[in-house]
Amino acid sequence: MSAIFNFCAGPAMLPQAVMQKAQKELLDWNGQGVSVMEVSHRSKEFIALTEQAESDLRQLMSIPSNYHVLFMHGGGRGQFSAVVNNFLGNDGKALYLVDGSWSQAAVEEAITLAGENNVDTLNIVDLVDGVKQVCLPDLSVIDKDYRYVHYCPNETVDGIEIFENLNSPWPVVADMSSNILSRNIDVSQFGLIYAGAQKNIGPSGLSIVIVRDDLLALPSLPQSSIMDYRLAVKNDSMYNTPPTFAWYLAAEVFSWLKASGGVTQMEQANIKKAQRLYQCIDELDFYVSGVAKQNRSRMNVTFQLANEGLDGLFLEQAKAAGLVALKGHRSVGGMRASLYNAMPIEGVDALVSFMKQFAAENS
Ligand SMILES: *Cc1c(COP(=O)(O)O)cnc(C)c1O
Repeated sequence: MSAIFNFCAGPAMLPQAVMQKAQKELLDWNGQGVSVMEVSHRSKEFIALTEQAESDLRQLMSIPSNYHVLFMHGGGRGQFSAVVNNFLGNDGKALYLVDGSWSQAAVEEAITLAGENNVDTLNIVDLVDGVKQVCLPDLSVIDKDYRYVHYCPNETVDGIEIFENLNSPWPVVADMSSNILSRNIDVSQFGLIYAGAQKNIGPSGLSIVIVRDDLLALPSLPQSSIMDYRLAVKNDSMYNTPPTFAWYLAAEVFSWLKASGGVTQMEQANIKKAQRLYQCIDELDFYVSGVAKQNRSRMNVTFQLANEGLDGLFLEQAKAAGLVALKGHRSVGGMRASLYNAMPIEGVDALVSFMKQFAAENS
């Protein structure tokens, strides 16, 4: 089979080296003669794996010691409800910034669980000359007492990324499902960071939560025990049986990231990959970007064909050239190329060559 480059937004491609190692170890993990899927999560070998995973992630993201790292169930959306249930007891209120589909979905879940009187929403995207642009509000002038402000720094569907930190008087909760580990961030600027694993970390179902210790003192709403941060902390993320195979693969991805030069190296590579693709889009009138330059996502590059009648042919010929999963999300249409850490620059170069050729043949 010739090389396939998979641009799926999620579940997304994983590093080939990790997949090969997992394949090799599938039936015999750690010389035990059984799969990692078949051992107790409380065995000393598995606990050693979880300790290594946490320490690698702490090192990769420079996570300060007053933050807990949790490995939980329920992916990204699981955290939409967990955040609300853990922090909004006793009529607590929260502010939700909306910059695209996922932050909109998060606010809807918050309203369902906490009631609309306890959830305020602020749209932070404007349409300027036909392109979407983020306008970050000055939160310090808002005279309200929120438990937290929630936002999504990388909107996977819309291709919008926010690179500045929020200037917030309240703890910042960030959904980093699709940009965690893609660039250096200062964890101390956040109260809580969460991410479904299937974009930049591992298989779906798992979610990573990084939470500052003092937030755990906030009163919670009634909630299910398996989504309770305090119980997760107390039980080292093993209140019930965790998704062990996903945890194992996440650990392998962290170790691959460290061996590849860490987040700084990834960030350099991600900047280069995104620049090459956006440059192609900007150079040819054949393609159009709907996002202002300063808010273009490095992870999810969305674009349209000027003649959308050619969408079908584009996708068909891209697939034949080994470039798969380029169809944009059904809610926005057009194309989307997801360039997570695991996507090599060769994949971007192959896509750019294809796009140039396709434009030349169909102009
Ligand atoms: C994919 C994604 C989610 C949803 O993750 P699930 O694991 O499907 O619940 C939430 N937020 C963002 C930003 C995402 O990219």
